[in-house]
Amino acid sequence: MPSSRLIAAIFLLALPSGAAVAQDAASRFAQYRSSPPLLRAFLYRMPKGGDLHNHLTGAAYAEATIRAGAAAGVCFVPETGKAARPPCNPPARPMTDALHDAALNRALVDAWSMRNFVPVSGLSGHDHFFSTFAKFSGAAPMGDLAADVIDRAARQRMRYVELMATFQGPAVGAFADKVAAAQPWANDPAAFEAALRSAGIEALVARASLDIDAAEQRMRDVLGCATPQPKPGCAVTVRWLQQVSRVMSPERVFASSLFGALLSQSEPRVAGLDFVAPEDDPIALADYTMHMRMLDYLHGQMPKTNISLHAGELTLGLVRPEDLLFHIRQAVELGHAQRIGHGVDVMYEDDAFGLLREMAEKRVAVEVNLTSNAQILGVQGTAHPFPIYRSAGVPVVLSTDDEGIERIDRTHELQRAVTTYNLDWQSLIGLERNTLEYAFVAGDSLWVDSRTWQKVAACAAISVKRDPSPRCAAFLLKSDKARLQWAFERDLANFDREARSLRVR
Ligand SMILES: [Zn+2]
Repeated sequence: MPSSRLIAAIFLLALPSGAAVAQDAASRFAQYRSSPPLLRAFLYRMPKGGDLHNHLTGAAYAEATIRAGAAAGVCFVPETGKAARPPCNPPARPMTDALHDAALNRALVDAWSMRNFVPVSGLSGHDHFFSTFAKFSGAAPMGDLAADVIDRAARQRMRYVELMATFQGPAVGAFADKVAAAQPWANDPAAFEAALRSAGIEALVARASLDIDAAEQRMRDVLGCATPQPKPGCAVTVRWLQQVSRVMSPERVFASSLFGALLSQSEPRVAGLDFVAPEDDPIALADYTMHMRMLDYLHGQMPKTNISLHAGELTLGLVRPEDLLFHIRQAVELGHAQRIGHGVDVMYEDDAFGLLREMAEKRVAVEVNLTSNAQILGVQGTAHPFPIYRSAGVPVVLSTDDEGIERIDRTHELQRAVTTYNLDWQSLIGLERNTLEYAFVAGDSLWVDSRTWQKVAACAAISVKRDPSPRCAAFLLKSDKARLQWAFERDLANFDREARSLRVR
């Protein structure tokens, strides 16, 4: 007996493709939403804004990392699944072995992702997920990984990606240790900043810029951007977010935060900084408030630094109830986060309702990563606060976190949200607009208000289907953000026409 969903799908296929079927994108969406395969194909083609939350090494698929690592002569240890530098002395083997040995390839892809993962006592989804980063660390050049990620983004019709990465991480760490040997952290950020600056931390900024040059050049080479057949990824605007690991010494966390702020101040390709690593780590828990105070200080010194913070990527049982009470609020109020990564435990916070109102009022956006939250925290469906944030008027974006580890893509997350939370077409458009509105890319927004989606006066009178007026064109010329927004609105208008052709026969 076929299920009712199957009957619905068969019925859809049997519908005439002519005038009886409404032909714009909204009705196509309504028509296809009950069939997962049809919905997938439709949402894949739907124009999207950007992905604001993805970690470069975890976003690249293991297969791409293996290929790039093999080409770069990197090795790996089969027993541990860890990448290793050449020469490949036993037990290390050349990564090229994993290209043609199917069993090795399977084992490596499984070790580097959630594919085939089954939780057992002592190894949860959380543990396996986070353990992958140390295994594939250093396995492939950044530019190869970025090419994998942004080409996939472009094929899903995204125009913008913020990639989280750690530039000059070991150098900044060593620098912090050296300064700390003479002057340990004593809760005096001004004194520690002075020590770091007089020791010359700013010199590392130029080195990070060279790293970005190299990564972006390699990314463009891999994508063939200078050839007559550039891959789709060449059209994606890329910005970087400098990661600060929260599981280090106070000296290292402060130095890395200062470095991130200095880097984003002098390097337009770095749009801001983000705190990363497991929030339930004992150091991350013990030092949480101190870390937020560090950011409070740095925000006072360099208020233009964009800050997004992983906060509330926790749930009851993983940590004590007391650890669920304040992370998101402190990230907003002390850490000056303009965006919160995850925010899953929000309803466990002290005065959760007041916090929601505060976030809605301050327009603090939440980067929601549904599959990541299900795999790491086991939080999904009605247990996830996604619909609560939306009802509270808190801006929400859908992002991927680590699509390579999760074995998903951004379209999957859109589909997951549609089917789990019964989203309508207008809500989907709003979520996509949010991804550009709350992006850290520079420039004024095309929108006066991110609730009503009214255009700024310079462009208000013109349809996105037409060329912008001279006044609107002058406005767009000055703003990277508004140009992306204009392009997305145009994509959307064109998609309304394209939706007519998205039919089975
Ligand atoms: Zn993340």
